[in-house]
Amino acid sequence: MRGLSIKLKLPLLIGGLVVVVTGVYAVAAYRAMARAAVTVATGRLTTVTDQLAQVLHASRNQLVAHLDSIARQPALVTYLARPGASRSRVALAALVPPPDRSSGVAGVALWSADRRRLLSQGEAPRRGLTADSALLRAAATADTAVVGAFRTVGDSLAYPVAARVGTPGRIQGYVVEWRWLAGSARAREQWNQLVGASAHVYIGNADGDVWTDLTHPVAAPPVDLTHATGLVRYDRPGVGPSYAAARPIDGSPWLVLVEYPVQAVLAPARLVLSRLMLIGAIVLLLGLAAAWAVSRTLTRPLVRLTHAAEAVAAGDYTQLVGSDSRGDELGRLATAFDVMVTRVGEAQQRLEDRVRARTAELQERNEELEAFAYSISHDLRAPLRAMGGFSQALLEDYGERLDQTGRQYAERVVAGATVMDQLIRDLLSYSRITRSELRLAPLDLRRVMQSATEQVADDVAARHARMVVNEPLPAVVGHETTLAQVLANLLANAIKFVPPERTPEVRVRAELRDGRVRLWVEDNGIGIAPEHHERIFRVFERLNPAEDYPGTGIGLAIVRKGVERMGGRVGVESQRGGGSKFWIELSQVEAVDDRERHSHSAG
Ligand code: ADP
Repeated sequence: MRGLSIKLKLPLLIGGLVVVVTGVYAVAAYRAMARAAVTVATGRLTTVTDQLAQVLHASRNQLVAHLDSIARQPALVTYLARPGASRSRVALAALVPPPDRSSGVAGVALWSADRRRLLSQGEAPRRGLTADSALLRAAATADTAVVGAFRTVGDSLAYPVAARVGTPGRIQGYVVEWRWLAGSARAREQWNQLVGASAHVYIGNADGDVWTDLTHPVAAPPVDLTHATGLVRYDRPGVGPSYAAARPIDGSPWLVLVEYPVQAVLAPARLVLSRLMLIGAIVLLLGLAAAWAVSRTLTRPLVRLTHAAEAVAAGDYTQLVGSDSRGDELGRLATAFDVMVTRVGEAQQRLEDRVRARTAELQERNEELEAFAYSISHDLRAPLRAMGGFSQALLEDYGERLDQTGRQYAERVVAGATVMDQLIRDLLSYSRITRSELRLAPLDLRRVMQSATEQVADDVAARHARMVVNEPLPAVVGHETTLAQVLANLLANAIKFVPPERTPEVRVRAELRDGRVRLWVEDNGIGIAPEHHERIFRVFERLNPAEDYPGTGIGLAIVRKGVERMGGRVGVESQRGGGSKFWIELSQVEAVDDRERHSHSAG
């Protein structure tokens, strides 16, 4: 997640939120609805079952009353008292029920007190429907007619109603009527209207052997319902888990059972759940699309801002974010960024202009100063020479007339003028090296070396110095007279800064380093402590007293300035008392092409 771009993160976040919220909401809503549906369904189940039981009880009462009225007919009593062919016709006529009630009747029979069937109407006997003695015994003692348990006949169900003829004390016989259970699709539909389409109504015997759904016989419920008063829950094969309520029908061995499949109870909740899921999916899609659009509009200016910031980091102040007239925080940020970049760019420009102006000014001042120093030094030489010359003339022409002290004074004037002349000459050559235009060219280092050696020939001779030049000396890029003077200064120092009792030994050698030539001038002199290595290259810096090692302190300053103007570098490796190794580094001739430009610009 951390590496993802903001453009992706936002839609993912919003999508996740939508999924979680709709998921939690849908599950909570489903649970609440399911609970409510179960409560409603079970309440309804109980009510409906009670109502059905009452309805069935009422129709049982009608049947009983009807049969009682048949049993009371005098024709039957007469026939049973004295059976005979003539009276049997009258009795049979009395057994036939009124036409409007005959539809569900399978047959009616008249039984004797000793339980023999005397007369019979209808198909019942043919279908094996005969009264059992238990039913007749019950009829013998009951106040009214009794109904018996259902019996299966093929695909239909029938049940008997039995009434006594006579009084309990003097039983003359029995009337037994077999009725088909009113089983038709229409009847079933009527029941369903009462209980609701998703519920199933069953009627069966309380002892659980015969059950019907009002059209066909069905399997008995998988639990014993005889003593079940409240709700039961069980699995009916082929239907699944169901809630069920059973009620006995008073005055009969029957039970009515109403089943609600859990599936059907939860169907509305499931429907709501699937609708919620659908709505959730739509909201998710819309949310994703909106989040994508928002994150694009959010990140587009950020991306532009990033590019602009990177450009600024690279020093380009011209890349502005540009305003796309957004009024929000990002729009203000972009505007502020542009203003800031413009200001910084302007400030940078002003700074550069100022630095350029200052540099030019400084250069001008420097040049003026150098010109001033040059002309002063130059102009000083004439009076100095006059002083030196006239002092010398004083000594030569009037020496005898001066006493000892006078002569000493004149000699000191001459010596002072000589030192000062040397100082002025050194200053003039430093100034010349600083100011003159140097045209760099490939140089034969050996020839330059030779010229330098000639310049120090007097010193070599005076100190009997030994000088070794290690060949080869590769060609370098430089300015001939400047390089000759640089080398001469280094050689002169190498000979000069050696204790008087020691013979100076000077070695010159060259080495190649990345297209540059490093030229070493090594001596066996007094050496230089490392803390002075930087200082000695500055003007007038000297480490030793003038009585021991005379000098002006300008020689090494000339060396550094000259080498730098030829595009090179200088340095020294030395310890106090351990001799010194001075080096200068210049471009090698092979690599001249790209160095030359640099040297010119440096000069
Ligand atoms: P100068 O030689 O006129 O004194 P330089 O600028 O040539 O002035 O040298 C500055 C100082 O650096 C010298 O006074 C000396 O102390 C020190 N120095 C220069 N070259 C050497 C050397 N080869 N050995 C020891 N010390 C040196």
